[in-house]
Amino acid sequence: MSLVVMKFGGTSVEDPAAIERTAAIVAGRVAAGKTPVVVVSAMAKVTDQLLRAGAAAAAGDKTGALAISSRLRSRHRDTACALVKDAGVIAELQKWIDQKFDSLDEVLRGLAAILELTPRISDLIVSNGERISCRIIAAAFRERGIDAEAIDARKIILTDSQFQKAVPIDNTIEQRAEEKLRPLVNAGKVPVMGGFIGSNEAGITTTLGRGGSDFTAAIIGGALNAAAIEIWTDVDGIMTADPRVCPDALRVKVISFEEAAELAYFGAKVLHPATILPAVKKNIPVLVLNSRNPTNDGTRIISLAPHCKSPFKSIAVKKKLSIIDLVASRMLMTHGYLKEIFTVFDKHQCPVDMVSTSEVSVSLTVDSNDKLPAIAADLGKLADVKYEGKKALICMVGEDIRGQNGMAAQVFNAVRHINVRMISQGASEINMSFMIEEEDADEAVRSLHAAFFQNPDPAIFDAEARKLAVSS
Ligand code: ADP
Ligand code: ASP
Ligand code: MG
Repeated sequence: MSLVVMKFGGTSVEDPAAIERTAAIVAGRVAAGKTPVVVVSAMAKVTDQLLRAGAAAAAGDKTGALAISSRLRSRHRDTACALVKDAGVIAELQKWIDQKFDSLDEVLRGLAAILELTPRISDLIVSNGERISCRIIAAAFRERGIDAEAIDARKIILTDSQFQKAVPIDNTIEQRAEEKLRPLVNAGKVPVMGGFIGSNEAGITTTLGRGGSDFTAAIIGGALNAAAIEIWTDVDGIMTADPRVCPDALRVKVISFEEAAELAYFGAKVLHPATILPAVKKNIPVLVLNSRNPTNDGTRIISLAPHCKSPFKSIAVKKKLSIIDLVASRMLMTHGYLKEIFTVFDKHQCPVDMVSTSEVSVSLTVDSNDKLPAIAADLGKLADVKYEGKKALICMVGEDIRGQNGMAAQVFNAVRHINVRMISQGASEINMSFMIEEEDADEAVRSLHAAFFQNPDPAIFDAEARKLAVSS
C-alpha cells in the first residue's frame, strides 16, 4: 500500500471546473492502487477576502465586511450546487455552509462594535476558507465515485498558541493521525482535510501562517510515513524563476531538499518555507505538480539531487524587506556588541535575514513590519540607526556555488546596471544573495536568468519545453 499525501492549492480548487480536475487527479491515483490523503486550501483568494472582511469590520465598516461575507457565501453555495447533484446531500451541505456564514457574520458584527481585531479572532475568521472548501470538495469527490470523508483538520493539527504563525506539536499530531486518519485509509477511504488550520490545547483555532497548507501536507506526510507528498499547484513545478516575472523560466526536474528549502525561505512562493522539514526528517520525496497539466512530471525534491552542470538551479526573490544600518565607533574591538544588537531583535521577535558588518557599522535586513520604529528606538541606545524599506533580496540557489571560481563576478556582471546594497555568500554553499531596491527586482531576475539559463543541463532542467515554445 503506497500512501500519498496530495495537497491542492487555492487555484487547484478555485471553481467547479478546477475541483473537477482535482477529483480526476485523485481518482487516477486511487485507480493506480495508491491510497491518498488529501489536503486542500481555501478556494483561490478566499483567505485574502476573509482577512479583508475582518479588517473592514474592525475599522467600523460593518456594511463592507458583511458584503464581502455575502459574496463569499454565494460563491461557496454556487460551487457546491454546481458540483453536487444529489438533492438530499446538497440541501444539507448548503444548510451547513449557511450556518458557517451566519456565525462569521455574527463575529463581523461583533468586531464592528468593539473595533478591535486580535490575531486569535483573525485565525477564527480565516479558518472558514479551509473548513468550508474541505466539506465541498469531499462531497464533490463522493459524487465522482471517490469514497471521501471530510476531516476537521483542527482535530489533528495540534499547535501552540502563537496565532497566525502557530507551531505544530509533532508527537501529538502523529498520534492523532494514527488514530483518526490511519483507520480511514486502511478501510479504503480518502480523508479530505483543510490545510493551514489547527487548534491549540484548549481547542481554540490557530493557523500556520500564509501559504501554510503546504506545511500541513508535509506534517501529515511525516506523521503517516507517506511514500510521497504531492504539492499540486498552478505551475509545472519549481521553475528556474517565478514564471510570472520571467516567462522563459524552465521547470527544474529534480532538486535537493536543501536547495528547495533555501528557495522557499527566500521567497519562491511555490512552497511554504516550513514544508520541507517534516519530509527531510523522514526522507519522504516531495513532488510539485501542476493540476492544470497533470501528466507533466513536475519537480521531484529529494535528499540528494544528481550533479548539475549549470551553476544555479533557480532564482528567488523576497520583497517587502527593510535594511537597518547601525553605525557606532564603540563597536571597534568590543566583544558582545552584536549580542546586544540581536537581543533587541529577539525582544521584538523579529527575525533577521542577512547581516553584514564592518569595523564600525552593522547592516541587517528584516521583513518590513510595524515593529520597526520600536526596534529602531531600542537600537538607538546602542548606535546611530537608519532604516529604509522597499528593498528586495535576490537569492541564487545552486550546488557548491562557493567552489566555483569567478561565479560572483559573473553574477554581478549580469546585474551591473542595478545598484546592489548588500551582499552575502558565506553562510551557505548553495546560496548567493544580494539586496537591491524592490523596483529593480523583476529586471534583476530577468537579467540573471538570461545570463545563467541559456544552456541548461538537460538532466536537471526541462529544456525541451523551451525548444517546443520556440518552434511553435
Ligand atoms: P498554491 O495556491 O497552489 O499554493 P501559490 O500561489 O502559493 O500556489 O504558489 C504558486 C505560485 O508560486 C506560482 O503561480 C508562481 O507564480 C509562484 N512562484 C514563485 N517562484 C516560483 C518558482 N521558482 N517556481 C514556480 N513558481 C514560483
Ligand atoms: N489559504 C491559505 C493562504 O492563502 C493557506 C494556503 O493556501 O496555503 O494563505
Ligand atoms: Mg501556496
